[in-house]
Amino acid sequence: MPQIFSAYLEAFAECEALRDRVLAVLNRLPEPVQRDFLDDPRFRITLENYVPGEGWSMWMASPGPVGSGSRCVVLRPKLATCSEAFAFYVIAHEFAHAFLRNGGWGDITDIEEAADALAASWGFRRTPYN
Ligand SMILES: [Zn+2]
Repeated sequence: MPQIFSAYLEAFAECEALRDRVLAVLNRLPEPVQRDFLDDPRFRITLENYVPGEGWSMWMASPGPVGSGSRCVVLRPKLATCSEAFAFYVIAHEFAHAFLRNGGWGDITDIEEAADALAASWGFRRTPYN
């Protein structure tokens, strides 16, 4: 793996199975996409953490003009234990949102369809959960 990705994965120190899956997806992204993430200091990948009494933490996009907000990909711990194909699809879909700044892709204006289409173009097709 490119050593440069390791700094993005500190949040996964306690969850190596998921870290390995995130890395596997990152390494399969097209180089311009990798560069887009690595060149952006706002880009983050983190693990959704459960705080007793406070519920699940939730990511909310920062307000502001397109591209100016946070680009934080939050992944759930269950992605470490579900099927690898499903985890790869979900991780790639979230990276697609980050790459598209939660926007559309080409003619696709629905952001969920856009993320699925872009993830599929990277080789990560929507797959059933199992
Ligand atoms: Zn989505």
